[in-house]
Order: sequence, then structure tokens, then C-alpha cells
Amino acid sequence: MNLFGLERKEIEQAMLERGLPAFRGRQIYRALYARGAHSFASITDLPKGLREDLARDCEIRKPKAASRHVSRDGTSKYLIELADGRNVECVYIPEPSRNTFCLSTQVGCPLKCSFCFSGTIRFERNLTAGEILGQFLLARGALSEPKARSNIVFMGMGEPLLNSDAVMKAIRILTDDEAFSVSARRITVSTAGMVEELARFAAEAPPVGLAISLHATTDEVRDRVMPINRKHNLQDLLEAARALPIPKRRRITFEYVLLGGENDGPEDAKRLALLLRGIKAKVNLISYNPWPGAPHERSSPRATSRFLEILADSGLTASLRRSRGDDVLAACGQLANQSPVAASSA
Ligand code: SAH
Repeated sequence: MNLFGLERKEIEQAMLERGLPAFRGRQIYRALYARGAHSFASITDLPKGLREDLARDCEIRKPKAASRHVSRDGTSKYLIELADGRNVECVYIPEPSRNTFCLSTQVGCPLKCSFCFSGTIRFERNLTAGEILGQFLLARGALSEPKARSNIVFMGMGEPLLNSDAVMKAIRILTDDEAFSVSARRITVSTAGMVEELARFAAEAPPVGLAISLHATTDEVRDRVMPINRKHNLQDLLEAARALPIPKRRRITFEYVLLGGENDGPEDAKRLALLLRGIKAKVNLISYNPWPGAPHERSSPRATSRFLEILADSGLTASLRRSRGDDVLAACGQLANQSPVAASSA
């Protein structure tokens, strides 16, 4: 039995089933997450006999780093090896006052957005909560001086809301004071817009930030670049967004990747402002990150600043997310288990 990835209640239950008091479970829970214990032998607040029993019957199994690529801007991309030999990637993005960790939720992605490299590899399976948490531990553990503030974004490979149960479990452990103690305010889950799941997620998950990948202002364009739109169109998605319970002082982020000549014209910016009317929204424009064989182009600097200007004039809060780590294929939409060398020769 692998204990890594279990919640406190589950570990307590496992100890009760062994005829032990629940508090043993709590000790193990804290050791696993708050202290990052790798072995039962190192959990020295447990009696020696119990440590030996646990080492025999249970595991602390975490994903391993198979390789790491460091960008010239300091961003690190990790290729993670899972117990079944499959791979995902996660990214550490250093910023002056904080660390951002970008985690994957699935091996591959079934959604096949035209601009995203992750959609080009086969969707294999959902990650478990332990595999999600393991990415964070691994990337944070590699830092010589972890900054006090960690931001976690579920923006790696996969669609988090197609794996809501494991994602919510990972978030509960991340935000728990006895485990990782990361503030829910510092966690953002990004979704391509799984309309049915949005409401359940907002109601059941700890109060993390939500980001919705919009990327188009007409169904015609969105159908083309995000096939999920053929199932849940813009109107359905925005209706679901309007209905979300948004805590005071928080807003929904709408992500919008600027694809040159596709969705970056002034009329798109105006339509975007109209679409978001009445929603507590902010817009995060994303520079498009190309990948080998990618079918789109970057928006020109001129089109990009015009787009931002129109949004600002219409009273929307908007910012531009610049590429980080794109020289090692670590930027948004570039995660596909490819090393930069293999990618550049592909
Ligand atoms: N599946 C989730 C998480 C995806 S990654 C989602 O769809 O939201 C986070 C963001 O990067 C999403 O907004 C995604 O659409 C965007 N993205 C994907 N490919 C990109 C690319 N090539 N360049 C820039 N952003 C991209």
C-alpha cells in the first residue's frame, strides 16, 4: 500500500485497521507532507517496531525526476517518471518575490486544442493525487533556497477538470496546515471549460483561483482551435462562469492566447470585452509559444498592444503573460515530454 497521496483520514483509517491508534496515522501524514519523509525509518517519532512493520507492508512511493532542463531565464522543466514508466512534465518558474510551480494532471491530454503541444501526444491516463503532489515536492526540493511564497498553477499537461477528484484531493493536502500549508489563494486551476464540472469543482474544492481558457470570441473560431467548444459552446461556458460562486475580492481569470491573424484583431478584443460584461473577470493574455510543427503564429507586438489597449479602454483588467522557459519547451502549451534537443531535431 502506497501511503503517499493519501489524506489524513485515509492514513488514520489504515492505522486503525492495523489495530493502532489514529494518532499514528496523523504522525505519518505530517511526516510525509510537512517534512517530506522518504522512508518510514526516518519517521523517528514512531516506535521502531512500527517503522519496521510499515517498511515491510507499505510504501512511500513518489514520482522521480528522469531529467531536468534549465532555461536561460532560470525556468526549470522536469521530466517526471511515474511508477508505471509513463512520463509527465512539471515546471518551476522563478520570479523575484515568489516561486511558481506548474503541475500536470494527466498523462497526455484528450482535448486536442490546436495550439497546444500536450494535445499531440496520446492521452494515457489520469494522474493520482500522489503523482500530482510528487511533482511539487520534487521541483521544490531541488531549490537550494525555497522562497517563502509558492504559487501553484494547474497548467501543465492535461485538463484538471477531467480529473477533478484527484486534483481536489491534491489541493486539500496542499492547503492543509498539517501538510503543505500552501494558501488556497496561491493556487490556480486552469480549465479549457468543462461546463458540467465547473460548478461541482467550485462548490467542493478549497477556494482556489479559477482560470478559464477562452482563446476565442466566436464559436466559429473556438470550434476550430478548441474542439471542446463543439460540445460546450461559448454561451454555455460563459453562463456557467457567471453562475460560479466567486468569493469577495476574487475574480475569474480568462486566459486568451494570442494567435496571429486568428483571434488577435481589434474586433476580437471588443467582442471579448462584451462577452465578459457582468462577470467578475480579469483577462490574462498569453503570448503564443510555438512548438515543432505548430500550426499558428505569434501575434505581432503591434496587434498585441492594441488588443491590450482595447481591453483596458473597456474597463477590463488585463495583463500579458510573457513566455518563460520557451527555449527548453517549458512554456505554456509546450509540455509534451520532449527534450529541447529532440524537439529541435524533430
Ligand atoms: N488544460 C488546461 C491547462 C492548460 S495549460 C486548460 O486548458 O486551461 C495553461 C494555458 O496555456 C491554457 O490557457 C492553454 O490554453 C494555454 N496554452 C496551450 N498551448 C499554448 C501555447 N502553445 N502557447 C501559449 N499558451 C498555450
